[in-house]
Amino acid sequence: MQKTDRRTILQAGPVAGAAGILSTLTTDNSSAATTTKRDYLAELGVPPVINAVGVYTAVTGSLMHPDAVEAIASLSRHFVRLDDLHAAVGARIAKRLGCEAASVTAGAAAALTLGTAACIAGTSADAIRRLPDTTGLKNEVIIQKSHRYPYDHAVRNCGIRMIEVETAAELKKAVNPRTAMMLYLFKATPMGAIKAEEFVALGKQLGVPTFVDAAADVPPVDNIYKLAKSGFDLVTFSGGKGIRGPQSAGLLLGRRDLIESARLQTGAHSDSIGRPMKVSKEEIVGMMVALEAYLARDHAADWRRWEDSIATITAAVKNIPGVTCERYVPVIANQVPHLRVTWNMKTLPLTHTQVVDYLRKDTPQIEVVPVEGPRPGPGLDMIEMAMWMMEPGEPEIVATRLRAALKSAKQG
Ligand SMILES: *Cc1c(COP(=O)(O)O)cnc(C)c1O
Repeated sequence: MQKTDRRTILQAGPVAGAAGILSTLTTDNSSAATTTKRDYLAELGVPPVINAVGVYTAVTGSLMHPDAVEAIASLSRHFVRLDDLHAAVGARIAKRLGCEAASVTAGAAAALTLGTAACIAGTSADAIRRLPDTTGLKNEVIIQKSHRYPYDHAVRNCGIRMIEVETAAELKKAVNPRTAMMLYLFKATPMGAIKAEEFVALGKQLGVPTFVDAAADVPPVDNIYKLAKSGFDLVTFSGGKGIRGPQSAGLLLGRRDLIESARLQTGAHSDSIGRPMKVSKEEIVGMMVALEAYLARDHAADWRRWEDSIATITAAVKNIPGVTCERYVPVIANQVPHLRVTWNMKTLPLTHTQVVDYLRKDTPQIEVVPVEGPRPGPGLDMIEMAMWMMEPGEPEIVATRLRAALKSAKQG
């Protein structure tokens, strides 16, 4: 084990708390870490980041709820039968959300793979062993063309072919004995001709299981209850985004037979497609506890805090000549207050990239939303920021640094 002379006290946070609990109970006392809280990021030379982006995996999603961290530490001290734990936690989550069954997965992407595998293989031991070889099995997944997205790779992992359709009539025609599943991307709802309700109805009419990916669709918290009971045969949410569970955990909700099949294809079941996506006992319970904490939160208070953050940053930059601030809430997915700061490049000769680079210069670095689309008008550039993943005190730092970034422009 690595020795360290470092006596730096890690800022008291949830992770530091967990390390403390662990250190008092571990049987291995050879490490200095048992008596000293190590500043791992400083040791590694990896800069900490102020998250003004949102729940992006590239900046590690969200910060776990302290209760989830405590659950992780607690479970780390016990052995259990993995299947027993999966079953008990799944039953508890299903009851809480009012769906038939549930399982903790290694993230929403893992849930996509396991749910698809369940639709293909059911409980056939032979089919489970053979995946991703789908010879002779159902191996087509129907999706609306406008719902194609990078994460559908997790569905394609199961050796299926994506069949793209645009209308209900096309969808009906596409269904055949090889159809395993119909996939719906919740955040693409505005883009597709077939909306969620009709999609579910079509699935039932045609006898094909439907799966909705709602990974980043809480808040609003209601979405989780609504989608759990929406008639989709399978639903997934990320655990490590708005729910603030472990970053590599997620939820698979839905029909009992499909959830049972999904469980047979991961965890301790070695000869299965999902074995590389097993979830540890710590994460299984951590996920459950994070979900309970999320459902019980004062969501209105969260919202007020995000609005305060918008006000703090706006106040710091709105009087700079050429600058305009605009608050917005995305219409679907990540439905939380964001701030768009636009500047006139004649008055402030700066590009988006220059401001982004400026905000990354100091420690902690500040990460803002990547903007690839068109700018609000000719001669204008902008940055966008999400408020909900900033910790107390950080909006003030962002306000000061953003003001300095904009002031750094050589006045035109
Ligand atoms: C983030 C995301 C995923 C992947 O979620 P993980 O929990 O990180 O595996 C899948 N689908 C959508 C739409 C997402 O936004």
